[in-house]
Amino acid sequence: MLQTAAAAISLAQHFADAFPTSHKLYDQALKLFPNGVTHDLRHLTPFPVYIDRALGAYKWDVDGNQFIDYWSGHGALLLGHSHPQVVAAVQAQMARSTHPGGCHQLEIAWGEWVQKLVPSAERIRFVSSGTEATLMALRLARISTGKPRVLKFAGHFHGWHDYLVPGADPPYDGKPLPGIPQEAAASTVIIPPNQPAEVERVLGADPGIGCVILEPTGGHFGAVPIRGDFLHALRDITRRHNRLLIFDEVISGFRVHPGGAQGYYQVVPDLTTLAKVLAGGLPGGCLAGRADILAHLEFRPGRVKMKHPGTFNANPLSAAAGVAALSLVADGQASRRATELGVRLRRGLNRMFATKDVSWLAYGEFSAFKLLTKYQGPRPTDDDFIPYGGAVESLDGPKDARLVHAFRQAMLLNGVDLPGLSGMTTCAHSEADIDRTVSAVGTALDLLRDEGIA
Ligand code: PMP
Repeated sequence: MLQTAAAAISLAQHFADAFPTSHKLYDQALKLFPNGVTHDLRHLTPFPVYIDRALGAYKWDVDGNQFIDYWSGHGALLLGHSHPQVVAAVQAQMARSTHPGGCHQLEIAWGEWVQKLVPSAERIRFVSSGTEATLMALRLARISTGKPRVLKFAGHFHGWHDYLVPGADPPYDGKPLPGIPQEAAASTVIIPPNQPAEVERVLGADPGIGCVILEPTGGHFGAVPIRGDFLHALRDITRRHNRLLIFDEVISGFRVHPGGAQGYYQVVPDLTTLAKVLAGGLPGGCLAGRADILAHLEFRPGRVKMKHPGTFNANPLSAAAGVAALSLVADGQASRRATELGVRLRRGLNRMFATKDVSWLAYGEFSAFKLLTKYQGPRPTDDDFIPYGGAVESLDGPKDARLVHAFRQAMLLNGVDLPGLSGMTTCAHSEADIDRTVSAVGTALDLLRDEGIA
């Protein structure tokens, strides 16, 4: 582990020295990909670290360095990397057929797991990603209600298509986003979360809004937490106004509880979007929900049908991984364990921040942890603490990119890979991993201070 006594050398120099092969690979990648990366979140200055393999809670890079991982496969890996049962299921299917170009038994087993675990899942349609699932939810909602617009909440991420990317990231100033047609943006109405009266007012004032979509545990997996009382209020309001309620459980699904947030809080939406844990770490998603709404996908003489092809819908490799993963998360132990470790990490970090007397704070719910820098406010006294009274601008405002990149570098140098000022625990982490992570954050803060960054 890197000691700060050596801080006479700059962080950037340490980084370059520790990850030489990644540096070389990045030079190659720059000739191929914009910014040299294949996902916005993987962009890291001066270069990203290239991962060679992963198992359980750990990843190893191309130089042989080991990291405790908190990306959790962008949320897909509640069971950790390469769980043996998931690997065996995919390997067995690989040899049978990767694409039968037809119906297959595993799609039925996969759908049955979804139906069994997710309260709203009367019917299911598989797609290839979370983005596709929310796109389908909106189109079916338009067909079903005859209303063109959607109500969403500031800071809620539902994938990158034209209709829901507005309002996903700060600043939430309503300025047009590059490449999004005016008509698409105009069909998306954005308000702050956790204000039932505002939802009631907007739905009352705009009869063209057909559905309300949200991340039911809060935008960006709980940056501004949402609790059961708001979900119950939304269910009541949307029912009274005769609009559809859509839970985007792409990240919360099977992670916070085997039945997702709807299972945890006992609120049943009309439609649910799922991906990530659903497909056990392989690509895959689905829309689940009321049979009468998904019936618009059916061929029915004289009735409106939504067209829906998709080469990789219910792909058997994803189905194999999904069936294995869902059978492993069904009893709730995996969610409980990841949450328990999340609590341990948040508490440990806050104790360390208090001891060091730095203005950082850890908060979050379930398996998520979020870090606030330059925090001004009381230190948490319980695990339910929501800083800044849940204000969106304070909890989910623009990030200081220089600080985030330096922090990620410092964490990688200390053996921990974080997707930024946040991360997710899995049930593959151990208490020892969590405690090592707390120390690593402490050492990283010392490094940042030596750099004059934090
Ligand atoms: N909705 C939510 C809540 C998500 O977290 C994500 C992915 N982070 C998406 C939708 C989009 O899913 P995908 O990346 O599979 O398109």
